[in-house]
Amino acid sequence: MNPAANSPAFDRPRFDKKFRAGILGATGTVGQRLVELLADHPWFELTEVAASERSSGKKYSEAVNWHLNTSIPVAAANLVVKSLEPALDCDFVFSALDSSVAGPAEEEFARAGYPVVSNSKNHRMSPDVPLLIPEVNAAHLDAIPVQQKNRGYGSGFIVTNPNCSTAGLVLVLKPLADAFGLEKIFVVTLQAVSGAGYPGVASLDILGNVVPFIGGEEEKMEEEPQKLLGRWDGSRFVEAGVGISAHCNRVPVENGHLECLSLSLKKIATLAEVREALRDFRVSEELAALPTAVKNPVIVLDEENRPQPRRDVDAGNGMAAVVGRVRECPLLDVKLTLLSHNLLRGAAGAALLNAELLASRGFFTRSRVQADTQDVPAPVSS
Ligand code: NAP
Repeated sequence: MNPAANSPAFDRPRFDKKFRAGILGATGTVGQRLVELLADHPWFELTEVAASERSSGKKYSEAVNWHLNTSIPVAAANLVVKSLEPALDCDFVFSALDSSVAGPAEEEFARAGYPVVSNSKNHRMSPDVPLLIPEVNAAHLDAIPVQQKNRGYGSGFIVTNPNCSTAGLVLVLKPLADAFGLEKIFVVTLQAVSGAGYPGVASLDILGNVVPFIGGEEEKMEEEPQKLLGRWDGSRFVEAGVGISAHCNRVPVENGHLECLSLSLKKIATLAEVREALRDFRVSEELAALPTAVKNPVIVLDEENRPQPRRDVDAGNGMAAVVGRVRECPLLDVKLTLLSHNLLRGAAGAALLNAELLASRGFFTRSRVQADTQDVPAPVSS
């Protein structure tokens, strides 16, 4: 399927000013990636960082235990870390908060008028909160006005991105669901240690080892695709109703979740047709115009020993799912291996892409903090 082929001509959005972004949980593993990705962003500038009491009041460069290979962007290094008070000088916030605090904190920010673009699990399955992968279910953004009405929010709202292992899985499932329909899915993950945040799993537990348990992960992988592949019917999300069984394992890999997937399809398909459906998955012109989007979000490799985390994790700037080993499954219909970057496609990059879609669709306005002093940025056609 190629949605781009049928879309009307689309003007790339331009804004007269950058939107000001805040990051809640800016000192964590996902927060640091967001800080890095925002450094040269064409639409957004980072104006606020917030974290726990341990960090607040310090300069970001002093509060953060920076563990990326790039240096801390200068504009971020000098920001003072704030607490989770919803009085930040920004137009919207990313949330990369620990799930122990994300639930109420994100609600407070939304109630105070901030669009909240969240990574955390707390609101993903809420009946009025979009769980969004732009390439998969952009139509779910229609739930935002209902959420605002239900909860008495003004301009604020919450949008979430899926769990890191669900993100790559659903990106691969989407073109197959559209082309053939999905009946049953059996998936086994080999998940990188960075998925557990910092410091994450103790080195003595993971070095030379595999841990066959990640708390709550299998439940998320079995629930979230139902919402993502389902539809918004105007008042509620209708689940996809696919049978899913997931086994989740932590492995001593730094970045990149590998997943071994077997699936049964509603319509009979040859392996060539399955490969073709994956290769032909192209985003609409609207999505292709977003700075973080990749035109082909699924890359299919033919080598028999790929994808591999070390070699393929950064494919498509870390925003693509890489598929290999498409072959017949003696139990279900087809089996394959997929890989996606848990911190980019599965977290910071996913949230950034969600924010870009929200901006391009006009969901961001100036927050109340500076509403009286600055112009409202509006999309300007090119
Ligand atoms: P992390 O490295 O542990 O970072 C957690 C962040 O939350 C830090 O900035 C921390 O601030 C802040 N925080 C913790 N307790 C707080 C409190 N009481 N008040 C205010 N801030 C507090 O975790 P992470 O891996 O970045 O994950 C962040 C969120 O994204 C989690 O909900 C996680 O489930 C989700 N997620 C993670 C991944 C991944 O691959 N890592 C993927 C998808 C989703 P301090 O530094 O000040 O303690």
